Amino acid sequence: MLSLNSQNNTDADTLIENVATKFKPIFAKGNYTADQKRAIYRYFFSQKPKKLPPSLKSRTLNLYDPLADRTKRFPDGLRFCLNVYTGCAHSCGYCYVNGYSKEGVGFSPHVKAGFKEKLAKDLNDIKNLQLPKAPLHLSNSTDICQHDLETEHRHSLFALQKINENRNLFGPIAILTKNPAILCDKAYLLILKNETIRPLAVQITCAFWRDEARKYYEPNAPTVQSRLEAFKTLCENGITTELRLDPLFPCNEIDPVLRRHHPLNSYGLPEPQTDNDLAELARFVKNANGKTVISKPLKIPISDKAQQSKDWFVKLYRDANPTGQSIVKGGSYRLPDAYQKAIMTRAKKICEKQGLAFKYCKHDALTRK
Ligand code: SF4
Repeated sequence: MLSLNSQNNTDADTLIENVATKFKPIFAKGNYTADQKRAIYRYFFSQKPKKLPPSLKSRTLNLYDPLADRTKRFPDGLRFCLNVYTGCAHSCGYCYVNGYSKEGVGFSPHVKAGFKEKLAKDLNDIKNLQLPKAPLHLSNSTDICQHDLETEHRHSLFALQKINENRNLFGPIAILTKNPAILCDKAYLLILKNETIRPLAVQITCAFWRDEARKYYEPNAPTVQSRLEAFKTLCENGITTELRLDPLFPCNEIDPVLRRHHPLNSYGLPEPQTDNDLAELARFVKNANGKTVISKPLKIPISDKAQQSKDWFVKLYRDANPTGQSIVKGGSYRLPDAYQKAIMTRAKKICEKQGLAFKYCKHDALTRK
């Protein structure tokens, strides 16, 4: 029976040495003192683990992507994520959260029990343990601005207020949403405009220019127009606002020799993103005084909960591969590398023509320090 207690410094050091390999960079990447490493351990990991490696504690202000292997494809250190709600009413047909959530992402989105108390406790713990500063992301597995939940409960507003009061605990903040209209309400703007909350970026996800494409692939999410209007308002208020052109879909306009699959309408799919759509979006961002576009190619989770996405794209993805087989990596179906590179290069060229910075999504997260 293990009898280590992380309250004791020697035991804490032993436990840190024994965390699962995928978590080791959390301690190793930041040039931290021994006391800071112990603080990180005490915040995130079990105090008296029954076995090794020690497990993570349940936290509301949690580790960013706790499933990721930080020694391999996600070479990251300490980073926080606050998922304000559970599930997401936008229920996008291609949602990546379906790859790891217990229920389908759109199944009964709800508030977290005791959210306010738990968030206040986590903020206190971070303060009292003196964790080193790290970037904070809201939210990776839900949308903080879901209309019904947020207008009824205002948990995201509460979270922003509390984070602002404790701003010195964190590095840069990134807010991700498909419903930025909520952030244009006075109460949110007041916080987001505040100089003391910087550096902060609002990242508005909008993968479409034509609303009929949006209606097909994400019928429950806010319209393109409402997102772009909010983009403009946030920029006008001096808030750093970035476009998440995410995901980049397979496309008829890629050279047929490279893409190999049939035109999208042969699979019953409307074209999500023409060259003209991307050019209009980039022009819009430029004219609104945005500076950055963040993107990544569409991945299809292999999970049963991602059935909609699989029905839409798995055959097309197979056809895109010269071997006719599915390419599976990290729990998702992928397009061949050369095809992914071609759709990224195409979007990059269109954005750079407007003088916008274009970033790969993972690279953007990892460089937000
Ligand atoms: S808004 Fe994001 S989290 Fe919500 S369903 Fe769509 S892709 Fe998933």
